Amino acid sequence: MKLRVVVVGIPGVGKTTVVGKLSSKLRGARFVTFGTVMLEEATKRGWVRTRDEMRGLSVERQRKLQALAAARIARMSDRTVVVDTHLFIRTKEGFWPGLPYDVVRALRPTHLVLVEAAADEVTARRAADPARVRDAVSREELEMEIQLGRAFLSASSTLTGAPMLIVRNAHGKADETAGSLANIIEETSH
Ligand code: ATP
Ligand code: AMP
Ligand code: MG
Repeated sequence: MKLRVVVVGIPGVGKTTVVGKLSSKLRGARFVTFGTVMLEEATKRGWVRTRDEMRGLSVERQRKLQALAAARIARMSDRTVVVDTHLFIRTKEGFWPGLPYDVVRALRPTHLVLVEAAADEVTARRAADPARVRDAVSREELEMEIQLGRAFLSASSTLTGAPMLIVRNAHGKADETAGSLANIIEETSH
């Protein structure tokens, strides 16, 4: 059975950190950051230079990049693929789904994993990450993002039939978060 683990969560919650730690625990799996594949397609077209500029593009262009990335990832034939991505994007036109039907169908998830942390932790992580340009959001908006994560997750789960798993990425515990995820994935692969 092919395993397709789709890891999602709001910006700065720690997806890439947890997935990075997972890569040293899951041998033979392929790890892909959806946004990196989109960025390759965007830079080829001269649309942006950095990953954080992409969500400022028109939704039409973002949709094109999203479809190209989904198609590329869908062609990966590895037994286990772990995809680091987003459930929704804050665009000028509103919250836009990161996993609309065509995209989530192409990715064929066997595991949908929502990484969560408390609002205070996310605020601190966003502030402590100078390599990224983060959207300025109020506390109220951040709490709404956390709620929206669960709402969009359940939509993806219902569309695909894949179970949804919520993992808490507690402060200083990214390695433990990755460890518990690795155990769950390994148990399924037997
Ligand atoms: P984005 O959606 O923008 O790509 P992300 O969810 O991938 O964000 P990361 O880049 O992994 O988030 O992490 C954001 C910041 O939080 C980084 O500086 C990272 O080192 C830190 N971080 C991640 N997990 C933890 C944790 N458990 N405890 C403390 N800091 C953490
Ligand atoms: P990341 O490094 O995960 O934040 O990815 C960089 C950027 O890629 C994000 O800020 C989004 O603009 C975009 N991105 C990532 N995943 C998706 C997705 N599933 N749908 C649309 N855009 C995405
Ligand atoms: Mg990331």
